[in-house]
This record gives sequence, C-alpha cells and structure tokens, in this order.
Amino acid sequence: MNSAYVYLQLYKLFDKVTPLKVDCGKLCERACCKGDDCGMYLFPGERKVFNMLRPNWGYIENSDFSYTYNSKQKSVPIIFCSGNCDRYQRPLACRIFPLTPYIDETGTLKIITDPRAKALCPLAKTLDISEYDRGFLKNVKRAFDILATNDEVYTFLDTYSRQLDEYLKFYNSKGGLL
Ligand code: SF4
Ligand code: SF4
Repeated sequence: MNSAYVYLQLYKLFDKVTPLKVDCGKLCERACCKGDDCGMYLFPGERKVFNMLRPNWGYIENSDFSYTYNSKQKSVPIIFCSGNCDRYQRPLACRIFPLTPYIDETGTLKIITDPRAKALCPLAKTLDISEYDRGFLKNVKRAFDILATNDEVYTFLDTYSRQLDEYLKFYNSKGGLL
C-alpha cells in the first residue's frame, strides 16, 4: 500500500481531535508554530504525502538525524514552515504535539509528553499524560500502533526513542524537571 495513503488516513484522526477540548493556541499564541527553525521530522514514508501535495507553505530537507534499516543509513526528512500552514496538510508530528511515540527498554510502544516540548509548550510543562483529552491520547496511540507494525517505522521509532532518552534524562517520571 502507498504510504501516502496510510498517512492521509491517519491525519483524519486529528482533523477534529486536539490535545484539549479548548483551543490551546490561545494559551501561548501558538508557540509551537513559531521560531526561525520551525521544523518537524517526517516519519518513514510520510515524505510521499508532501511529494504529492506539494505544499506552498513549507519545504523539506534531509536532517542530520538518521537510522539504519536493511543495512542502509537513512536520513530523516524534516519539514520547515514559516509558522503558517494549511491545517489539513500539517504533518503527523504537528498533529500529535506535544505528545510523541516512545519505545521503552522492553520494546514496548508508549505515548509520552515530548521532552523537547517542555521548553515552549504550556501543556507539556504542566499536564500529566492522563490530563490530555482522552480522545486525543487514544488517537495518538492508535496511529502509532498501526504505524509501528511496519518494520521500518518500528526501527525508526527505536532510534528516535534513544535520541529522546538524552532529553528524558533531565526529567523525572512525572515529566517534571529533575
Ligand atoms: S505550544 Fe502547546 S499549548 Fe501552545 S498551541 Fe502548541 S500544543 Fe497548544
Ligand atoms: S507545519 Fe503548521 S502546524 Fe506544523 S509547525 Fe508549521 S505552522 Fe505549525
């Protein structure tokens, strides 16, 4: 199956479901969409969505972050935007922010608050994972339960989680700064 089709289906899980029932952008004037280096990683196969959509609000580059799959080194694409996009075209990482998938030391897929979000996002700074909208949390888990059945996505998520470990070292199990 074309991976673009899979991602476009998963995007729909987040068309109406957001981290809270209220517009959290009003708390912070959309802090997650600001900044000169506003870039989000694309998950394996997601680039095909943007090859197809050809958005006029962003561009894609290969990042320095890579993972090994089938003995090949694969650079992770990153999409940069100017802080405005077509909401219906935003990538998966933006749809799930400030949560992120994480594979723990036992190989189990979990959904956690992205430790990189804690510096800018009021939700990431203050909420326990259980305090997000239940439908949002459920859909994030559902999306990654589906994606992680693909070997390459799982391999990427494992490498990505080891990168997150470098940030998680600074936080306790509740997500607070140590
Ligand atoms: S930074 Fe956090 S609170 Fe602000 S819009 Fe983004 S997800 Fe919502
Ligand atoms: S792609 Fe859209 S949602 Fe994502 S950071 Fe840029 S403006 Fe925000």
